[in-house]
Amino acid sequence: MTDYNAMADEDFRREVRTFVEREYPPHLRFILQRARWHEMKDWWRKLYERGWIAPNWPLEWGGMALDAGKMMVYLDEFERYGVARAPDQGITQVGPLIMRFGTQAQKDHYLPRTLSGEYIWCQGYSEPNAGSDLASLQTAAVIDGDHFVVNGQKIWTSLADDSTHCYVLVRTDKRVKKQQGISFLLVDLKTPGITIRPIRNLAGHGEFCEVFYDNVRVPRECLVGRLNDGWTVAKALLGYERLGIGSPRRPQYALRRLEALARAKGLFDDPGFLDRFTALKLDIEDGASLYGRFVEQVKRGEPLGPDVSMLKIWTMETWQRITDLLVEAGAEEGVMSGVREVAGVETDFLSPFYYARPSTIYGGSSEIQRNLLAKYVLNLPS
Ligand SMILES: Cc1cc2nc3c(=O)[nH]c(=O)nc-3n(C[C@H](O)[C@H](O)[C@H](O)COP(=O)(O)OP(=O)(O)OC[C@H]3O[C@@H](n4cnc5c(N)ncnc54)[C@H](O)[C@@H]3O)c2cc1C
Repeated sequence: MTDYNAMADEDFRREVRTFVEREYPPHLRFILQRARWHEMKDWWRKLYERGWIAPNWPLEWGGMALDAGKMMVYLDEFERYGVARAPDQGITQVGPLIMRFGTQAQKDHYLPRTLSGEYIWCQGYSEPNAGSDLASLQTAAVIDGDHFVVNGQKIWTSLADDSTHCYVLVRTDKRVKKQQGISFLLVDLKTPGITIRPIRNLAGHGEFCEVFYDNVRVPRECLVGRLNDGWTVAKALLGYERLGIGSPRRPQYALRRLEALARAKGLFDDPGFLDRFTALKLDIEDGASLYGRFVEQVKRGEPLGPDVSMLKIWTMETWQRITDLLVEAGAEEGVMSGVREVAGVETDFLSPFYYARPSTIYGGSSEIQRNLLAKYVLNLPS
């Protein structure tokens, strides 16, 4: 078995790049919506067979056990080539949580099936009245013999209709402080009483769903961590999610598209456009250097602090501003959907615009990130 951590970064980078460029389906590069399971399953299989599906997992569970530095190289090469994000919550979220908080039986059952793609996971946290203020969630689980009986509704559950399982936060004690009465359950989505209803977004894609729980009986052995301790479990990985979302690759790609169009249309002759473009380019450079700083922190094995919120805000808001300018630069074509040919350059104006919109909401909205910075970094009164 190869010890990737012992390799020089550049050798490892070359190996990942060669594999990705050879095996990843070209038609799925830089797609402008969440990839679906039917599109990604062959790629998943290739990664799985090579032992590369779970870079963050330890060797004993079939992962690559990459250290933080190699992990960043791996992710960077995927992003550089425009590899779409597979329905990967099992690998990035619930797998590590089961390893950390789960029982041996849960590890033995769930981890191999998650790795192979037999179990596809979605995240059942948000509810119609519990998003930013997640701890006020109301979906309730009541113990009845060997089962929890779950009733309630989740919403914005990404790719629930592609998933076999969901990790769900439920209220198991209504009498205590709201963060303390929450538990973390693993739910098989085929269980009777579950209804999944896709929601169509502004771009016309059905990426997320409402999920209704009506007297759903979930075996007690599906509880991860202790009863009423689900908040601790759920919070364990949030900082790393923000680093992942804050990578500058997507805005960099959008800016390259804008630059190609601007050159073809002669927009750089307009000093106003040139000024805005240059400002965006500098903003991306700032974001990239901030990202590099956090990556170095992770490489040194230091935990991420609340200041990582700054990265998510900056990268996502810059991305949105670039896609705004792309629409403007397209003029009358910029508001037409689909791929349009303008000045000999094929450009999809609206998909990047739509794709960038929710980025300041998921993973914690910009407003919430600013509140965190105000409270924990700037020590402002809140
Ligand atoms: C593309 C996408 C995918 C998602 N996937 C999932 C998923 O798989 N699983 C899941 O559980 N959830 C998912 N979500 C839900 C996401 O976590 C929530 O949308 C998010 O937490 C915000 O909650 P909300 O939509 O209820 O908005 P609200 O919390 O109601 O916020 C509405 C507005 O008010 C602002 N606001 C709220 N509170 C404050 C405050 N205290 N101070 C200042 N401003 C405030 C917010 O910033 C926002 O602008 C997804 C969302 C999106 C957009």
